[in-house]
Amino acid sequence: MFAIALDGPAGAGKSTVARLTAEKLNMHYVDTGAIYRTLGLALYRLGVDLEDEKAVEAALPSLDVAIRYQNDVQHMTVNGEDLTKQIRTQEVGTMASVTAVYGCVRDKLLSCQRTLAEQYEVIMDGRDIGTVVLPDAELKIYLTADVKERAKRRFLELEAKNPGTNSLEEIEKQVRERDERDMNRAIAPLRKADDAVEVDTTHMTADEAAQKIVELAVQRKNAG
Ligand code: C5P
Repeated sequence: MFAIALDGPAGAGKSTVARLTAEKLNMHYVDTGAIYRTLGLALYRLGVDLEDEKAVEAALPSLDVAIRYQNDVQHMTVNGEDLTKQIRTQEVGTMASVTAVYGCVRDKLLSCQRTLAEQYEVIMDGRDIGTVVLPDAELKIYLTADVKERAKRRFLELEAKNPGTNSLEEIEKQVRERDERDMNRAIAPLRKADDAVEVDTTHMTADEAAQKIVELAVQRKNAG
């Protein structure tokens, strides 16, 4: 099954670019960050200390994280409760990043990601898709952008939802901390796969980035 792995740091535009690319190529978009966010939020809600790996591991069997698609929109549920809307905050992003360092968390979420890629032609975005989840993906993209530009994008996105409640400085600090944690963790750190194509979106629109990926995908498909 043809697959595109799309990795990169927070705010590089992965989800927008992946969604556009999926539409253009008629592929299935899988947002793996949403899976980590859902589990992070569910653990937090249980009152588990997220810094305590043993406590996190002990809580995992009680949480059934599932993905379902409704009108092409990815819905995330835990034990049947739909958390799709609640996971889209900066705080939940941090919960995801703190718990994503644990091997037990990554192991739990690996098989559902791989199963999706066996069922559909996917463009899957995340941090370790090209390096760990789908190492044989036909096309691997490492999407990046300058950290200030990434913080500005996150700020505008959050402001659009809740105007006047966000600080650009605070968001830049959180983006830098998240980069630091995601890139330096021991298991499945964020890094460009050796065979990935780097696309820097600092001065690109999402549509331009998607167009570039579409061209590369068409070339790979024709070559294969
Ligand atoms: O992409 P998003 O910001 O939604 O991801 C939230 C967090 O989930 C990331 O900062 C990262 O720590 C974690 N994550 C991961 N591996 C993935 C996707 C997300 O570790 N494949």
